[in-house]
Amino acid sequence: MERILMIGCSGQIGTELTLELRKIYGDGNVFATDIKEAPAEVRESGPFEILDVLDEKRLNHFAIRNKITQVYNLAAVLSGNAEKIPMQAWNINMAALMNTLELARSVRLKKLFWPSSIAVFGPTTPKTETPQLTVMEPNTVYGISKQAGERWGEYYHKRYCVDFRSLRYPGLISYKTEAGGGTTDYAVEIYYEAIRNGKYECFLKEDTGLPMMFMPDAIKATIDYMEADASKLSLRSSYNVGGMSFTPKDVAEAIKKHIPDFEITYKPDFRQAIANSWPASINDDVARRDWGLSYEYNLDSMTEVMLREIRKKV
Ligand code: NAD
Repeated sequence: MERILMIGCSGQIGTELTLELRKIYGDGNVFATDIKEAPAEVRESGPFEILDVLDEKRLNHFAIRNKITQVYNLAAVLSGNAEKIPMQAWNINMAALMNTLELARSVRLKKLFWPSSIAVFGPTTPKTETPQLTVMEPNTVYGISKQAGERWGEYYHKRYCVDFRSLRYPGLISYKTEAGGGTTDYAVEIYYEAIRNGKYECFLKEDTGLPMMFMPDAIKATIDYMEADASKLSLRSSYNVGGMSFTPKDVAEAIKKHIPDFEITYKPDFRQAIANSWPASINDDVARRDWGLSYEYNLDSMTEVMLREIRKKV
């Protein structure tokens, strides 16, 4: 029987992943933790505890006491926030990963999931259809920490047989939890503002193409990948996952099909430079081949769901 520790359950991905894992493994077997209070649906559907992944001693006690077999470690300072506190972000992101790698090694966890990001790529990486193996010279502190993390994960796999698993998520779009300080946050905010005010001021330029994924596809991909037989995984660093690729102008056009008067203006800030250094689209053939990655949503079908669900909420 699996007993799963979710670290970062109150965040954008953690909330939805916790609920989905509880459906599969049983509510009582998915232990949700975070340094901040979890949303009601997470708190009320199973165990929740405040736990700081940087507190290595408590983390280890928690895992042993609850007989944890798998860990999903989603705690991180995201790209936009990390640029404001570079040294602190580096320390937090690396310590959070290293504490769970050490836990996986010492208590022999069955599996450890830790998300990487398209931020591992940099301005010298081929910008479109970015391949799995290519030049990687990230120039943001977030990207550098993700790239180093991938290397450490692969190292622990080779050296200590830790079943480390990782996906390079693109920008993730969801309506359940608001975004957590990343460069692709505009693609969540724009839908809320379209419903609330009928207009949005975008912090990226209109033609900034970035890879994105709708949360239901990201959750499904994560679970399919985590359930894949280890023998199918040809990579032990992190898999490219691409989803769709669009610009702020494309999203605005998609919204206008439902809200014809929607207005968008552009006022690029420091996140434009981060976006400029990232790929515009991703090649994910290796993930498709190894463990059957697939997607259900495109920009139009995602827009329909986003507007419908946010309308109910706002
Ligand atoms: P988020 O900021 O919404 O959630 C992260 C959660 O981690 C927060 O609830 C936060 O309170 C918690 N946390 C922070 N420090 C912690 C600590 N010391 N101990 C325990 N919990 C702590 O982020 P997210 O968007 O859900 O991202 C989750 C992971 O996915 C991160 O590793 C991120 O880098 C990666 N990722 C996200 C995206 C995206 O678009 N959202 C894209 C690529 C990669």
